[in-house]
Amino acid sequence: MTSKPDHTSAARRIDELNGVGPALASKFKALGITGETGLLLHRPLRYEDRTQIIPINRVRPAATAQVQGRVTHQEIRKGRRRSLLVVLEDDHGQLVLRFFNFYPSQRRQFAVGNRLRCFGEVRFGPEGFEMAHPQCRIVREGAEPPLPDHLSPVYPTTAGLGQQRLAAMVLDTVQRALDGRMALDDVLDAPLDLPDLRSALAIIHRPGPQTDLDALIEGEHPAVQRLALEELAAHHLALARLNRARARQHAEALEDDRGLVDRMLAAFPFEPTGAQQRVMGEIGGDLAGTRPMRRLLQGDVGSGKTLVAAAAAAQAIGAGAQVAIIAPTEILAEQHLRNFREWFEPLGIEPVWLAGKVTGKKRSKALQQLAAGAPLAIGTHALFQEGVEFDRLRLVIVDEQHRFGVDQRLALAAKGSDNDTQRIPHQLVMTATPIPRTLAMTAYAGLEVSVIDELPPGRKPVTTAVIDGERRPEVIERIRVALADGRQAYWVCPLIEESDVLEAEAAETTAAELERQLPDFRVGLVHGRMKAAGKQATMDAFKAGEIRLLVATTVIEVGVDVPNASLMIIENAERLGLSQLHQLRGRVGRGSDKSACLLMYKAPVGELARARLKVMRETTDGFRIAERDLELRGPGEVLGTRQTGMLRFRIADLARDTELVSQVPPLVKNLTHAQADVLIERWIGDASQFADV
Ligand code: ADP
Ligand code: MG
Repeated sequence: MTSKPDHTSAARRIDELNGVGPALASKFKALGITGETGLLLHRPLRYEDRTQIIPINRVRPAATAQVQGRVTHQEIRKGRRRSLLVVLEDDHGQLVLRFFNFYPSQRRQFAVGNRLRCFGEVRFGPEGFEMAHPQCRIVREGAEPPLPDHLSPVYPTTAGLGQQRLAAMVLDTVQRALDGRMALDDVLDAPLDLPDLRSALAIIHRPGPQTDLDALIEGEHPAVQRLALEELAAHHLALARLNRARARQHAEALEDDRGLVDRMLAAFPFEPTGAQQRVMGEIGGDLAGTRPMRRLLQGDVGSGKTLVAAAAAAQAIGAGAQVAIIAPTEILAEQHLRNFREWFEPLGIEPVWLAGKVTGKKRSKALQQLAAGAPLAIGTHALFQEGVEFDRLRLVIVDEQHRFGVDQRLALAAKGSDNDTQRIPHQLVMTATPIPRTLAMTAYAGLEVSVIDELPPGRKPVTTAVIDGERRPEVIERIRVALADGRQAYWVCPLIEESDVLEAEAAETTAAELERQLPDFRVGLVHGRMKAAGKQATMDAFKAGEIRLLVATTVIEVGVDVPNASLMIIENAERLGLSQLHQLRGRVGRGSDKSACLLMYKAPVGELARARLKVMRETTDGFRIAERDLELRGPGEVLGTRQTGMLRFRIADLARDTELVSQVPPLVKNLTHAQADVLIERWIGDASQFADV
């Protein structure tokens, strides 16, 4: 146990730390870090062993190593790519350091005679073993920096926030928490086989060289489990408070006095399916009551959730209330805008549009309309930002819920809350992702569920083929045939690098190439970095059938609806998670034509990715896919988890930690209110949002 120093201070906000201005603070925010506590809970992706220096003759290819020696030679190689080549020699051998992008300052750093300590991955190059772009520092004879006694963590970070800086800040905070300079209450009596909070943090951020790294990275190590347990406990407590608060709250009973629902349905070109009718009945009943509705509307891709949402909106508007419809991406929100316009304008209702890109005069006008009680608002999360006021918001509809976190859901509920009357809006949450039981126990605790378990009539199943990317010419030929036949196709280029700039570039290149190969047809392009207007124009032209092949990044993942499109090509499909693939495939098979989905992969494909592609080939059933997803979605798939994950946990992983979930309720039962505050504050943020219970 550490002895307490004289001054223990509370955890500081990130912008209170030395040298962190607003720009840097926003980078941290992008990582979900708003203060010292966030730094503590930022989990490394992997670790590097810099605890020892390896004799150069003992380095092995494909492994990382730290070496130290003297520079004996330096030259610039002209070849296909200009490179700086440096030879490092110790008492045992020599090693080439190679740099493809380099500065004059580096040439000086690597001057012959300098002593360097370098860390990097070893590979076999034309000159024998080499390290490409190792991290190097100059070491002076006799004044060598000491070797760390623990492994060095490597953290997930974001552009503009350097790894070294981030790591230094995390480790400094860990140190402050361990020696008691920063307050850190350990309130959870963890089971005996798990370490206490401080030990867990110490192990995660600075494991000793003997630590079982696989267990640590995969999250099965007791130290990770300890934190995951605490995180799950915090979410459990927060949701329990929310539910208790909700039990005391009321909502306005919304009766469709103006008969809008019937008028809208009468104008639809089709009959609602039996499942849609049943679900509309359930929702309609909730809305007509004073108990706030919190209902999850679950239905596979293409099952027709939008119509159900529209009926709910019509009922609320018919009662004189305001409705907000929120989607996670601008494209999806725009799609709703278009549908709702078509359905509501005949009823004399014009939706108000609000997204991040709506600024200036347009924005003030939208805000003014909402404050004045405009009945229907459609947009992105911009709708629940500060400054947006409603007059009588009584129903909130959130599409594709898993993209939003609990915190955002709260902010939204707060919008329509009325503290005097304890009234809150009814909430309808729509998702295409079936919710496995573990999740239902946590993320969705307290939500009632309606399921649309029937697809609209006339849907043709989508045939799925998995194809080696080498066979691209055949795929293009297949597109040509489909387009010549009057049909339309999607070509999706998923994220390859973790950067939307590179992703956009890749999509541009692909679009240009396809345009060249398919000169008779118009090819369009949409990606996340385009302006809303450009995106919209392209989507409109695709919908109108002018653009025949749409090249897109994964921005089209959710919600886009073009029935004439019957061919879906997904490039690098091996990189996508199951639920994403399922979403994408759901874009076709909506019209009367037989549809196909081609999943192109780039060999070699890992075992997990192969299993995913196999599932896609074998079934189109969203429930089956979600189950398999949870089984397969293994550890280490950080990116995949982020993309398919339904809740943004920092450490816990519901697929991995099923066991822990059931330990939570007995564990938190005896916590005091103040102790619960500590946990909620630490893991979720400002506990005051869950206050007064
Ligand atoms: P999702 O559940 O994926 O949001 P949508 O609401 O976008 O599905 O509906 C998918 C497509 O099915 C749309 O083109 C919609 O017009 C159509 N659709 C919805 N309900 C029916 C129905 N009862 N009969 C025929 N087509 C329908
Ligand atoms: Mg939808």
